[in-house]
Amino acid sequence: MGRIPDEIIQRIRDHTDVVDLVGRSVALKRAGRNHKGLCPFHDEKSPSFNVNPDRQTFYCFGCHEGGDVFSFLMKTENLTFAEAARSLARDAGIEVPETGGGPDRGISEQLYTANATLLERFRRELSRPGCPGQAYLERRGLGAEDVERFQIGFAPDAWDTAVATLSAARIPAEIGEKAGLLQRRERGGHYDRLRGRVIFPIHDVRGRVIGFGGRAVAADQEPKYLNTPETPIFRKREALYGFPQALDSIRRAERAVVVEGYFDQIALCRAGVGEALATCGTALTADHARNLRRRTQRAVLLFDGDAAGERAMLRALEALLPSGLRVHAALLPSGDDPDSLLVREGPEVLRALVDAAPAALDVAIERAVASGHDTPEAKADAVESVAPLLALVPSAIERSEYCARLALAVGTEARHVEAAVARAGRGEDPREAVPIAPRRTGPEERNLHQLARSLVEHPSLAIRVPQDELPSLLSGGPVAELVRCLVDAAAAERGVAIPEIETHLSDEARDLLRALAIVDPPLDEAAAAQTVDDTIRWFRDQQLKRREQEITRRLRDPAADEDEKRRLLDERQQLLQRKRQLASVDHASAVPPN
Ligand SMILES: [Zn+2]
Repeated sequence: MGRIPDEIIQRIRDHTDVVDLVGRSVALKRAGRNHKGLCPFHDEKSPSFNVNPDRQTFYCFGCHEGGDVFSFLMKTENLTFAEAARSLARDAGIEVPETGGGPDRGISEQLYTANATLLERFRRELSRPGCPGQAYLERRGLGAEDVERFQIGFAPDAWDTAVATLSAARIPAEIGEKAGLLQRRERGGHYDRLRGRVIFPIHDVRGRVIGFGGRAVAADQEPKYLNTPETPIFRKREALYGFPQALDSIRRAERAVVVEGYFDQIALCRAGVGEALATCGTALTADHARNLRRRTQRAVLLFDGDAAGERAMLRALEALLPSGLRVHAALLPSGDDPDSLLVREGPEVLRALVDAAPAALDVAIERAVASGHDTPEAKADAVESVAPLLALVPSAIERSEYCARLALAVGTEARHVEAAVARAGRGEDPREAVPIAPRRTGPEERNLHQLARSLVEHPSLAIRVPQDELPSLLSGGPVAELVRCLVDAAAAERGVAIPEIETHLSDEARDLLRALAIVDPPLDEAAAAQTVDDTIRWFRDQQLKRREQEITRRLRDPAADEDEKRRLLDERQQLLQRKRQLASVDHASAVPPN
């Protein structure tokens, strides 16, 4: 079985209906232009799984699983892409030509073998006397036992260690490239991706090497951390560093502790917390959550105790709660990570911090009321900010208990909180149903969402958005990323195909795209065009307002000299003119065409 030609894939796509296919295993009910049912990828009692026949996609608002007919079959029946394509082709009566090449299933096997072969070499390199990797690990406090346990190795600072090792083992360079170990030279040939780095092998649960993380040993080497890229066997959305080594401890401790870096994970193990795991260069996802939930019900996360750490905790909760995991959050002293804490305070302090980690939802409630809840408005804000998180808790008993705690903390009645949580859970307002950043519902987010939604619905409208102004109009985040990508695609006249766009997006932006693509009801094009124009005008307006405020602030500054003040007054004058212009354009466009 070789590669299946693209035109055959396209024919399979054309001849398969997503509603038929999903309908074989999920009871679907029509709801507007979508079909709804209970999600096959997570446990739920009310349907949040949507199938969109127009786009031939599916998406779950509960666990964020989504994709097309191929990915549905791959996920439900655990098939490779080629296997899923062949199965769909059989159903549709499409013949798939047999081409040359190794068996498709063999590719994964070959990638595992390439990784395992190279790991052996890396480990030999580390044990060489005078290896710079040894000195580095010693400085970080790691001993021979840790090196053995985590099979740490070293990639010499050379261009052809992996090239030669794979070649000697008769593994084709193309396989090395596919495994992310080699990079192709422009003028032919290959070179090593990982050079001059301490190597952490990343295993799947069954103990097979799926990828590598590399830490630079030279002080001036960039980037500090370099992972092998996504490959057919290395899916960063589900991979967890240290998984096979941690399984026993997870069972015994009835919990998993998840951190962000290899050294942090090892620090926890050295402190006696053997159930520690690390993500591999991504934020926690719903896939990680499912992977964990199969082994334990409790996850402890460690965060920096500053504002950024708090935001990271809330995002992690959004990914983990729907799986039914009970999440605890240990907050580290600001500026510390587990590794630095271990070095400074010792293993008992680190272990005690993990053991005492409070329920993350209690932390979220505490933070929400910390900014004040004296006025009716502040109470409402506090409830609204935590309600979307509580809505993600699958257990009705736990959810109701947290509602009671939130009500108590805010000083309101539990029934009000229950109602807010139910509202957030039903996602009646599509904006709230969008899984990304449900907490933020300020005017900026609202406008940004409306803009994104209109563009996803009618991608051709993206040419109305001024591409060169975008960077100054929109701030960061997945929604802005999605808008930028749609606008770029329209400007490049690539024609805007959703599956094509998906490949350019971060995980979060892709989830958002899928969620928006499935939101009911459809907007007609004229209304969407109006929304695009209105939101862009709003963003321009905001930009002007921000600048005006900045000017006013500077004018009041006693340190500003006369020259500067004159310049600022001039600029303010121009801003005013600009605003009048925009307002008159407004007025003109409000006149209906005859
Ligand atoms: Zn789901």
